[in-house]
Amino acid sequence: MKLKGILPFARFLLDEFLQEGDTAVDATCGNGNDTLYLAKKVGKSGSIFGFDIQEQAIENTGKKLREHNENNQVTLVHASHASIKAEIPEVHHGRVKAAIFNLGYLPGGDKEVVTSPASTLKAVEQLLEIMAKVSILILVIYSGHPEGKVEKDKVLKYAMSLDQKNYHVLQYNFINQKNDPPFIIAIEKR
Ligand code: SAM
Repeated sequence: MKLKGILPFARFLLDEFLQEGDTAVDATCGNGNDTLYLAKKVGKSGSIFGFDIQEQAIENTGKKLREHNENNQVTLVHASHASIKAEIPEVHHGRVKAAIFNLGYLPGGDKEVVTSPASTLKAVEQLLEIMAKVSILILVIYSGHPEGKVEKDKVLKYAMSLDQKNYHVLQYNFINQKNDPPFIIAIEKR
């Protein structure tokens, strides 16, 4: 396929905005795939902050990072991203170049623990405050489960309300796929 799939497109966006030494955030670490990608991208001189409410996710992510020797530049926070601004040291405020959310539940984990619209939106609002000028916030939205549908609607409503003078907001999705395929909302802070 020549069109990029959803996850490759998310990484393409990360690549556009991130370079060695940058600061970035994984707001939903899960099994650590995005955290590892970010850690490799910013290298040893960069800083990554990764959040998850599940201990299992923090453990899985830490293990993955250590296996690849990419753990030194990563701070893992076992807490909700609803308090993301308070958890990221002030020295990084205004310097976060990229943030990614993979919404929904932990693959291979407890399907009852899902991201919630209220905390997701709190985290997005706080991140947009502390992100750098010219930065990207990516949400990969899974709406196949009941809470996911509500979350999708609320995130879309919020994203569409952002002032176009300050933000470019993109929706990237495949409109002929069945069964609520994931899609991307990308918010570029200008
Ligand atoms: N990006 C991950 C990966 O590469 O494996 C997958 C993330 S998974 C789809 C969603 C994760 O969000 C779950 O691990 C879940 O525990 C976490 N989560 C749910 N609510 C959260 C919250 N309020 N704050 C931080 N993480 C949360």
